[in-house]
Amino acid sequence: MSVRLCDGIEIELSDGTRVVCDADNPDGDIDVVTHAHGDHFPEGDATVVCSALTASLARARRDEPLQRVTDDRIDLIPAGHVAGSRAAVVTDPDGTRYCYTGDVCTRSRFYLGGFEPPDCDVLITEATYGEPEYTFPDHQTVADEILSWLEELESPGLLFGYALGRAQKLQLLAQKAGVERIFVTDAVRRVNASIEDHRHVVFDVQQYNSDTTLGEGDVLVLPMTTARFDWIEDLCAETDAVKAGFSGWAVNSSFKFRGNYDITFPLSDHCDFAELCAMVETADPAHVYTNHGATDTFAEWLTSAGYQATALRRNQRSLGDF
Ligand SMILES: [Zn+2]
Repeated sequence: MSVRLCDGIEIELSDGTRVVCDADNPDGDIDVVTHAHGDHFPEGDATVVCSALTASLARARRDEPLQRVTDDRIDLIPAGHVAGSRAAVVTDPDGTRYCYTGDVCTRSRFYLGGFEPPDCDVLITEATYGEPEYTFPDHQTVADEILSWLEELESPGLLFGYALGRAQKLQLLAQKAGVERIFVTDAVRRVNASIEDHRHVVFDVQQYNSDTTLGEGDVLVLPMTTARFDWIEDLCAETDAVKAGFSGWAVNSSFKFRGNYDITFPLSDHCDFAELCAMVETADPAHVYTNHGATDTFAEWLTSAGYQATALRRNQRSLGDF
């Protein structure tokens, strides 16, 4: 049995079965995709264990189909990260239970319930915010701050967040704040449509195009990747728009300068440090592997707290003795 980081997370079961999760080019006996963020789903078409919504989002985002299959050895449970995201609970024929979280969030917010950690022997967790300085205010506090800011907006607001995840929450917050004209880009609109098909949620928004003129109090929700594009700078110069960034990284002031934002809020789709710690405590595994982000710091912290913890390194085999 082993867990390793190759092209994705690879779990080798006691009978030699290879379970490959979130690989660019999945080649396992069983392949799993946890959610439809670009760094987690395959480059081309593939046959994988994933949620129906993740398969739909993959089509909406890339036109390359994910064929869904199920497998008795894989149980998908809500990961609380973005719509359709799942953690994979893998049961070895010898009874060992692995849980691979993918990206994960234990806070319930909007139409997403928080991740409920299952009992498992081996936990493979992301560690994006696996350092103590990344502690977020509670969700309601952050949401209330964003609502107050939106309600007092005296110029157009450009709201930057990932097209899948933050962008939908920002639209819902803008709706709640009573913003009359909410615009989204095509990338965000396509993601919205998939989520509306699978969830009881409606995004009451309009598509932004080159003919749109933004005025006072209008909101445009855009993918974070566009924050430094020239046309955004031109738009700000023309309309006096303010740029707002939304991410867990906002607890660190460098996020504001890197994205050239006027204001930032720590709205995140991941666990913060305390939540990662609480998740491990609840799952109570015999061994924890950390992957992505502050892998070393978090593994060291877990070790000092009495856990067997290992930071995964690419292509290094970690043999388990559980
Ligand atoms: Zn993600």
